[in-house]
Amino acid sequence: MPLLIKNGEIITADSRYRGDIYAEGETITRMGRDLETPPGCEVIDATGMYVFPGFIDPHVHIYLPFMATFAKDTHETASIAALVGGTTSYIEMCCPSRNEDALESYHLWKSKAEGNSACDYSFHMAVSKYTGETESQLREIVRDGISSFKIFLAYKNFFGIEDGELYQALALARKLGVIVTAHCENAELVAQLQQELLEAGKTGPEWHEPSRPESVEAEGTHHFATFLENTGAAGYVVHLSCEGALKAALAAKERGVRIWVEAVIPHLVLDKTYAERAGVEGMKHVMSPPLRDKRNQAVLFHALQAGLIDTVATDHCPFDTTQKLMGRGAFTQIPNGIPGIEERVNLLFTYGVQQGRLDLHRFVDAASTRAAKLFGLFPRKGTVAVGSDADLVVYDPAYRGTFTAARQHVNNDYNGFEGMAMKGRAAAVTVRGKIQARNGEFVGERGRGRLLKRAPSHF
Ligand SMILES: [Zn+2]
Repeated sequence: MPLLIKNGEIITADSRYRGDIYAEGETITRMGRDLETPPGCEVIDATGMYVFPGFIDPHVHIYLPFMATFAKDTHETASIAALVGGTTSYIEMCCPSRNEDALESYHLWKSKAEGNSACDYSFHMAVSKYTGETESQLREIVRDGISSFKIFLAYKNFFGIEDGELYQALALARKLGVIVTAHCENAELVAQLQQELLEAGKTGPEWHEPSRPESVEAEGTHHFATFLENTGAAGYVVHLSCEGALKAALAAKERGVRIWVEAVIPHLVLDKTYAERAGVEGMKHVMSPPLRDKRNQAVLFHALQAGLIDTVATDHCPFDTTQKLMGRGAFTQIPNGIPGIEERVNLLFTYGVQQGRLDLHRFVDAASTRAAKLFGLFPRKGTVAVGSDADLVVYDPAYRGTFTAARQHVNNDYNGFEGMAMKGRAAAVTVRGKIQARNGEFVGERGRGRLLKRAPSHF
């Protein structure tokens, strides 16, 4: 059924105007003022609302065997949560460990999503080792429509790669025009500090942050940037959390390194005191890099508004309280992750736009457009234009509510943002012209999501 969204205030990364949007056959086919309503057309009255392009979360974990357990979501639960929160596409990390075969893993991850996601999706392919068959396997995966890799400098002996392998992965990425996303923490320093703290009897979640201090992330960021500089590859620092790491990334950018920066929503709105709460309350707020000293929030928001931080993602990764309690005896055993796929857009709107820290255009750019451009989805995704997919978010800035586990769609028994105020919410969310969510509820078609094939663009 065709769709007409009438009289909304259409906001993109670089424009703002009042008008109507008409979509037929999955894409936007007409835009203008006072478009007539064809018979048999679904109409949304967007008076008093913003109309944004569908939001893109470029960093999520859904299927994930990690730390002797599995993350809780399926693509069905994660995609429903995403849509309710205004996210219409996500890019999942396909994360084989060093012991697993890359190609087999890629097919496994793909099979988990196929027919199960209600929104569109793609993958970043993790390179967790580099052996004789890696190049041909990665070439095959790129040919299948995956144009970004992921590497871990942290998680030694599990996801983490050695410097020689890093060099080879980046050299190949350079040849293929693929962008490489990177978790930047010095693995050796983390391992040493963890051991030292545990030996001193410092086992609670409040010691997670001191085991991976800001300097360790700054070193990792500088390390990655130096490898980019010497291979010519294009790189993207995921979940950058602190001033020291930001300075390392910006210094590299200044000397011409092709490097982009992602922040994730937990670092923007939560600080390390959440992880310092006693027992499981603290464990719920353990992720890596850790929640930081509060002074970093202003640094991150300023850089975000200035466009020095490019995107806002989540690093969505749900483990429930039972799983978190695996770390009762030692913070190193707490499964890492704070879910946020459902909350990201509303948190960024509430604590960014509504507080005057982020203008509307940078909000759209950071939560949608820039990810689309960096990862080969633009202009199919990431904007509102004739010819683009009709992924649209009709957004009510006057909505007032609260973030709470009681109303969430993510498959988890807690919400890391419990009790925080929500000022703004999606009133309607469409994927390729079909309404998939309304006013905080999923109303769409399960399993409708498609794998987004992406061509390399970083030559
Ligand atoms: Zn991640």
